[in-house]
Amino acid sequence: MKVLAITNQKGGVGKTTTAVNLAASLGAEGQRVLLIDMDPQGNATTGAGITKKEALPTVYQLLIGAATLVEVCIKTEFAFDILPANRELAGAEVELIELDRREYRLKEALAQNHDEYDFVLIDCPPALNMLTVNALVAADSVLIPMQCEYYALEGLSDLVETLRKVRHHLNSRLEVEGLLRTMYNGQSTLTQQVSNELESHFGDKVYKTIVPRNVRLAEAPSYGKPVIAFDKNSKGALAYSALAQEILERTAK
Ligand code: ATP
Ligand code: MG
Repeated sequence: MKVLAITNQKGGVGKTTTAVNLAASLGAEGQRVLLIDMDPQGNATTGAGITKKEALPTVYQLLIGAATLVEVCIKTEFAFDILPANRELAGAEVELIELDRREYRLKEALAQNHDEYDFVLIDCPPALNMLTVNALVAADSVLIPMQCEYYALEGLSDLVETLRKVRHHLNSRLEVEGLLRTMYNGQSTLTQQVSNELESHFGDKVYKTIVPRNVRLAEAPSYGKPVIAFDKNSKGALAYSALAQEILERTAK
């Protein structure tokens, strides 16, 4: 089992889009995948076609110890399972403070089902809060989606610093799995410059696969579907399939 936290404290960089579509694409490759929605916005949950009513109990109950992983887990219509979230998860931040081993709650919950999945993908909120810390402690590595914009590199150094702290205090195994360029517009000179800088800084940690800006990726969540189930020949669908393959190749090495 490989646990990947999809994280970037910057909002709107494509974390949830990557989480849902990578889950579906790895599932389509025959991998057993669990997607965990760690964001009170619940975008991964609705994007995977789970309605608010179905999404009970949620990750919130799992973290506070009121439900087991099996009780929270839902099989989606697509080739992956999900631990859903809703607004209630925002309260976990406060409640966790009172609990023992508060940084380890997700890790310990996952240990119950260690052999059931090949990949566990965690969609993180756009913050470096206790929910994100739980994800980083449970994870083997982080996948960092980013837009190639001027401020992206600055945000990245904050994230690298957080990862260093988590490694030092809570999870020494935590690695950077890869950096993913999202919403890519190859026409823009700035985008190309930032992209080049990223490659020269992070070398082969930068995925070869680039996710282009593609309207089908933005439309699919409103139908409650990953893009491969919505328009499988779209550029977005092809990009996330290529990413799944690239990750599988890297994992095999
Ligand atoms: P948050 O930080 O709020 O959780 P996020 O990092 O999860 O945001 P997304 O929700 O995945 O980011 O994406 C932000 C918006 O951009 C969404 O409306 C999404 O549909 C759209 N989007 C994401 N990736 C692409 C893409 N490659 N092309 C076009 N639109 C995209
Ligand atoms: Mg999101």
